[in-house]
Amino acid sequence: MYFKAFHEELEKIARKETRSLSIFKDPDIPNGDYAFLPMFCNDKKCDCRRALITVLQVTPEYGPFHGATISYGWETLSFYRKWSNALTDEEVKAMKGPVLAQFNRQSEYAEPLLESFIRTVLDDEYSQRLQRQYAQFKYKIGMKLSPELSRQGDIAGECPCGSGRPFRMCCGRGKFSRRYRR
Ligand SMILES: [Zn+2]
Ligand SMILES: [Zn+2]
Repeated sequence: MYFKAFHEELEKIARKETRSLSIFKDPDIPNGDYAFLPMFCNDKKCDCRRALITVLQVTPEYGPFHGATISYGWETLSFYRKWSNALTDEEVKAMKGPVLAQFNRQSEYAEPLLESFIRTVLDDEYSQRLQRQYAQFKYKIGMKLSPELSRQGDIAGECPCGSGRPFRMCCGRGKFSRRYRR
């Protein structure tokens, strides 16, 4: 599976919803603004229910740098265990996270950035937004959503871009959307 940034599929929504964090005088992390950019698996047959989150330093005077990549899954450990019985306990724990993603880019500040993420970004609201974005992303790439995922993505509800139109008729429209119109 390969992961694609949410903002590459749903840019208008990402512009409204991307979380960032200003860090100053933290002994372990350079001062600056850090954006948390979720990526999701780009396989429309795979329902892995997790995100890889790129932590990008975006303060212009430093030039952007890639601070960390965080793996986070919002389901229970038993969900990931059932999801694939080929996974070891370690791999199941890594899917759930939040942990630094093993095979992705990290910087020397990755550990403290992960701690800041857990302490100040990752709450129920953020987690629910990720779940909604996941379902919207999967819809956009042409996955046939279960009723549960459709609800989670609020596919028929108002588009978060602010247009006032339903998501499926707005940012959710794409080369696949006609096939799955309800
Ligand atoms: Zn997947
Ligand atoms: Zn929209």
